[in-house]
Amino acid sequence: MSKYDVIVVGAGHAGVEAALASARMGRRTLLLTLNLDTICKASCNPAIGGIGKGHLVKEIDALGGEMAKATDATGIQFRLLNRSKGPAVRSSRAQIDRFDYSLYMKTVCEQTPNLHLKQATIERLLLDGNRVIGVANQFGQEYRAGAVIITTGTFLKGLMHIGHQQQAAGRAGDPPAMGLSDQFRALDLNVGRLKTGTCPRIDGNTIDFSKTERQDGDSDPLPFSFANERIHQEQRPCWITYTSTATHDIIRENLGASAMYGGKIDSRGPRYCPSIEDKIVRFADKDRHQIFLEPEGRETMEFYPNGLSTSLPYDVQIAFLRTIPGLEEVEIMRPGYAIEYDFVQPTELAPTLEVRKVPGLYFAGQINGTTGYEEAAAQGIIAGINAALSISGEEPLILRRDEAYIGVLIDDLITKGTDEPYRMFTSRAEHRLLLREDNADERLRHHGRRVGLVNDATWNLWETKKEAIANLSATLQTLRVPLTEEVNKLLTGVGEPPIREPLPAAQFLKRPHVNWAHLVELGLLPDDTARAAAEQVEIGIKYEGYLKRQQSEIDKLAKLERTRIPDGFSFRVPGLSREVQEKLETQRPATLGHASRIPGITPAAVSVLSIYVERHRREAEAV
Ligand code: FAD
Repeated sequence: MSKYDVIVVGAGHAGVEAALASARMGRRTLLLTLNLDTICKASCNPAIGGIGKGHLVKEIDALGGEMAKATDATGIQFRLLNRSKGPAVRSSRAQIDRFDYSLYMKTVCEQTPNLHLKQATIERLLLDGNRVIGVANQFGQEYRAGAVIITTGTFLKGLMHIGHQQQAAGRAGDPPAMGLSDQFRALDLNVGRLKTGTCPRIDGNTIDFSKTERQDGDSDPLPFSFANERIHQEQRPCWITYTSTATHDIIRENLGASAMYGGKIDSRGPRYCPSIEDKIVRFADKDRHQIFLEPEGRETMEFYPNGLSTSLPYDVQIAFLRTIPGLEEVEIMRPGYAIEYDFVQPTELAPTLEVRKVPGLYFAGQINGTTGYEEAAAQGIIAGINAALSISGEEPLILRRDEAYIGVLIDDLITKGTDEPYRMFTSRAEHRLLLREDNADERLRHHGRRVGLVNDATWNLWETKKEAIANLSATLQTLRVPLTEEVNKLLTGVGEPPIREPLPAAQFLKRPHVNWAHLVELGLLPDDTARAAAEQVEIGIKYEGYLKRQQSEIDKLAKLERTRIPDGFSFRVPGLSREVQEKLETQRPATLGHASRIPGITPAAVSVLSIYVERHRREAEAV
């Protein structure tokens, strides 16, 4: 029987980050998956990032993960979304070549020391009491480990729907995983059911692109990874078209045949990625919806019509597609479908992503009720790190809400649970001006370094950037912008009032339409000023007041966040109602901050709790 430190089940977006983290931290790691040819497959749209999701990718990179590097290497169109809005909500997004992306990830896994890959269907956990000690595959082959991470995505009891037709599947082309969720139920875990859907894939040879609008990526594509300076490969365009009233008529007439609307599926779907049926019903007054035709890769003619997720019957899908300008002759290569699957309520998890009732067992990705590659990868790296740390008995890595979107994601999941697929948005973070894409390295590199995922070369890059930030900040304190014709011409050109006397550079940069590149243009900063450092300094200056306010709010709450509730603590304390006691016993919050966010836990209950936690601490010290 083979013995490993960490076993990861599932090589999707969560599983690969988990396995890479564990192996790179020196743990003997086994990655088991149904099909080695579909590692990190993009089951839905071929794109990484987007609003709030781009932030997660940058944070994974700062911790030492792979998603950003894979995107930079295989991206075919890069765009910075919300470029004209505030820095908190600017988010990176890239179309990827989904075949290259998958191969890139497989190659990285194969080349990572300590990481072993095997194709297997895992049907059951091996347990010693309630502790997990390994897994068994469909042939009864057993693999043992100190920790097991389950990242099975949409595969648990997956059921695919196209119109009234159903087929057991993990996703199109893959079988479902049948055994595991029954065992989770037997272990008294709260297992529920969710649904999601995807678009048909269409044949580019049958699209009339002359009837669509071309959309190019950014002319200066910015890489996702802090380790990359630029994107070298050529970019590809996407194409925009719109649904028509004829499209809407066909969909409306056939709503009863849709799996989502025909009463076939009771479970909840992702509110923020609605199906086209959903959009027609919910926005009945709109006479058209925008559709992006996105290439699935460089060497394929398959296109993803973003905005057309559907579970209508095959013939209805063809009929409504052919009412869309440019798609009059279109052929479907793979139909759209909906899928229902089992998930486990994430309130079963500790902040480390370990299942509280089953020591040694970790869950990450869609199994925890989330949707999206980025959300999955973010949980994957945290589960991988914590499983690896648990093997050597080291302090776990728990990111706070005020230091990372990953902290917000995990805290939301474990405190509130979810009854619909959870997607990240910038609006979910209360301190979003501090949690920007550009400063993810400043916020998280040291954590990656502490756990051993950030090597010397990467750490030195961050040190260099830190030094550049310090030098530039110092320069801007003394630099003055002179009163010259050239300066005032530039200012009026960008819509700012002219200056009447020389101005400190920091004050100059506070103006909304002025940026650091203007100081370079005026010859006041050298040409080789590093973009990333300059951007961070500029944001610090422009938003100084807001940033200080957010920091002082965080400082006020810090005591609650830092006060840990000991492992064996009994929540049956006087002064708390029975209902509150039960809620706390069930969820076992890790800190007072965590307790304060559990629905129904009042500030008064937290203050009672804080007295007993403090008393418990003093008693433990006295022993
Ligand atoms: P996955 O990427 O699904 O990977 C799961 C892995 O586990 C696979 O490699 C599989 O082979 C393996 N596996 C499963 N069971 C076993 C087992 N028993 N033994 C061994 N290996 C196993 N995201 C969005 O953001 N927006 C959307 O609109 C959207 N729509 C989607 C529509 C569909 C139809 C599907 C299928 C997914 C959609 N997604 C969408 C979700 C996105 O694909 C997932 O969120 C993401 O891939 C989840 O990553 P994961 O790592 O948790 O799981």
